[in-house]
Amino acid sequence: MNNTVRQRILLSRDIQMDDFNSIETISIERYVSTGGYKALDKALKELKPEGVIKEVKSSGLRGRGGAGFPTWRKWEFVAGAAGDEKYLCCNAAEGEQGTFKDRCLIRSNPHQLIEGIIIASYAVGARKSYLYITESYSKEITVLEKALQEAKEKRYIGEKILGTDFSLDICIRKCPNKYVAGEETAMMEVIEGRAAKPWQKPPHYPANRGLYGKPTIVNNTGTLSNIPHIVLKGGEWFSKIGSPKSPGNMLFTLTGDINRPGVYELPLGITLKELINNCGNGLKNGRGFKAAFLPGNPPLTESQIDVPLDFDSLKEIGSGLGCAAVIVLGDRTCVVDTTLGFSRFRMEESCGQCPPCQMGTAKMARLLQKIEDGQGEMDDLVNIENTCSSSKGQGYCHLLSGAAFIVEGAVRHFRKEFEAHIHERKCPLRSSAGNSL
Ligand code: SF4
Repeated sequence: MNNTVRQRILLSRDIQMDDFNSIETISIERYVSTGGYKALDKALKELKPEGVIKEVKSSGLRGRGGAGFPTWRKWEFVAGAAGDEKYLCCNAAEGEQGTFKDRCLIRSNPHQLIEGIIIASYAVGARKSYLYITESYSKEITVLEKALQEAKEKRYIGEKILGTDFSLDICIRKCPNKYVAGEETAMMEVIEGRAAKPWQKPPHYPANRGLYGKPTIVNNTGTLSNIPHIVLKGGEWFSKIGSPKSPGNMLFTLTGDINRPGVYELPLGITLKELINNCGNGLKNGRGFKAAFLPGNPPLTESQIDVPLDFDSLKEIGSGLGCAAVIVLGDRTCVVDTTLGFSRFRMEESCGQCPPCQMGTAKMARLLQKIEDGQGEMDDLVNIENTCSSSKGQGYCHLLSGAAFIVEGAVRHFRKEFEAHIHERKCPLRSSAGNSL
């Protein structure tokens, strides 16, 4: 049975869009006075690396960046890899559309993240870690620089941490403000001073041959921010929050035609309806619900509004949670125009090294634009579907497949609306003055 009772772990409050600039950063003094860095002490002096991994395993924590891969599995692999030189990278390159959860986490509680990085580095045997963050997040970079300095002064980072033999250096690495820079192998390239271009995989993944050819753990900001709580309160405590197979909370970034857009910390397994009504205060102007786009996945429809938002439940219905960005469309918002926006974004963000990606994203965007402009033919829909089906699984990273899943899903679920654009030779939701009704 799901345990969807709300319990705050990562954020002390919800952060509505209007409140974003008023987020207060928790100082190191306040963090320590409320139990901060106690988990690090417990990890280093009591649990040891194997004990930390054991707690993370029993917690059931899955990566919060999109793939939902069990965190302990990656950690165990890197911890067991041969050699002394290993790295950890915290991915705070938040390039997906409709998400700003990592910004909120960093702005509000940088020491929670830093403590998570130190514990994770200890568990896998890394002696150097990178905080990889989008260069346009200037405020968050300043917050992190200050917090890292404070942690160094308190000897939580540096040589012989807390009097043990464990030493760690953490550096900030800025990355270009590009979607693809957040892909984990593009991250290796950027940190080593090259352009953000994902690798062909297999043969090599960061866990076996990452930074400087050494085993490297890549974890998301949200994943690592959970670690101090799991270590301090125990994996079993964490495993009872959320869905049985997707334990813990998720930071949902709720935007679109919503009265109260923002970042909401909720147990995995809540439904889309609960998220929209209880957190978002319903749709704007009393509009009905049409769809929710979770970028990189097929959109959810009204008949799916009660499906639990967790990794497995969404996979079962052919969609996916991604990074829990939820973009809601009301019944007067055009699905074709919205799908075109997602498609164009991916075309513009393609790094261009895989021909199917360059051509496929451009073709999807061109055909969608034609339909949205009232110039489309029924053959264009068939052409879109064929392009999507031949694009899935192609390319060195998920950008092209993600575009195909969104577009194919939108056409499948809202075919009548696409056909209406073609038959009426205009968007049926626009007035003659060109405004959405
Ligand atoms: S799939 Fe697209 S974005 Fe990804 S590596 Fe290939 S060209 Fe670049």
